[in-house]
Amino acid sequence: MRRAVAALPLAGSAAAARSQQQPRHQDDEFRVLVVGAGLGGCVCASELRKRFEDGGPTLRLSVWERATYCAGRFGARAVHGGRAVDLGSQVLSVVDPSDARAAPGHGVSAEASIAAFAEASRLARAGLLVPADDGALAGTEERLNWPGLWRHYRAATSLSDVLEDVLARARPADVRFGRRVDAVAVSDRGIVVSATQRPAGERVAETFDAVVVAVAAPDALAIGGAAGGLPAGAVVAGVAYDARTAAAFFFDDAGGALCANQPLVWGVPTKLQNSLAPSNRRRFV
Ligand SMILES: Cc1cc2nc3c(=O)[nH]c(=O)nc-3n(C[C@H](O)[C@H](O)[C@H](O)COP(=O)(O)OP(=O)(O)OC[C@H]3O[C@@H](n4cnc5c(N)ncnc54)[C@H](O)[C@@H]3O)c2cc1C
Repeated sequence: MRRAVAALPLAGSAAAARSQQQPRHQDDEFRVLVVGAGLGGCVCASELRKRFEDGGPTLRLSVWERATYCAGRFGARAVHGGRAVDLGSQVLSVVDPSDARAAPGHGVSAEASIAAFAEASRLARAGLLVPADDGALAGTEERLNWPGLWRHYRAATSLSDVLEDVLARARPADVRFGRRVDAVAVSDRGIVVSATQRPAGERVAETFDAVVVAVAAPDALAIGGAAGGLPAGAVVAGVAYDARTAAAFFFDDAGGALCANQPLVWGVPTKLQNSLAPSNRRRFV
């Protein structure tokens, strides 16, 4: 069982805290908490589910997210009159594994790129993703250096709906939105996770056998006990981000006027910090 958890590839900014204890509770159940329902958390939950499907202990999966929906830098959105605008990621991009240029490299293993391609294709078949033309997208390094290698998909409705679908397939036993994790501590019964639940602000605590912290580096460091005490803490502390501000403008269908009954600008700079490839980062500093 421990092997299954230890082998799980974590999202770039994620840190994991794992109990050294065997589960002490009754039943053959392994309690895992994923902190954060952004892209990393939702994909992690779905991968965990797959890895517990080959027999052995039953996975009891919980997901706690401080936002009120599957958000993060991938799923953050503004909604007005039933329409959603993605504020973070605009496209989901995957390498086509059948292209000879796909291996080696591009920052992902062959196994991960095949899995990512399969998942994006599934989401497209389900009508949640729509292929996006290279020509409609900005000339990023990947697109300029590797023309045609990447397949890009935009959301049919919003990328948050894509995350919801990925999370649902993980069949979590318990999903809590509006719950911010404040601290983790290892006890002889497992990993005790304390959190604050919105809107009332009540304090909650629960014990797990493993905790995956799938949040941005500064958020991980803000969780008491999560990253600071682990060897990964030094790595997490060294992660650099640039800051971005996203704005959504909604226009009236009839006259093309800006809608007046909503704030015109949604700025979520704290959620929209983005890690950059070093070559890109140089352009911003
Ligand atoms: C403006 C912008 C545009 C981008 N465009 C693209 C693009 O087009 N294509 C692409 O592939 N990538 C793009 N990216 C990058 C991509 O969005 C991110 O790499 C990805 O979303 C990171 O996901 P994550 O799950 O690691 O972190 P996050 O998205 O930050 O998710 C972490 C989640 O954890 C929650 N959380 C944090 N702390 C706590 C806590 N203490 N308790 C509970 N929950 C917590 C947060 O609310 C959040 O929902 C873009 C990023 C930005 C900012």
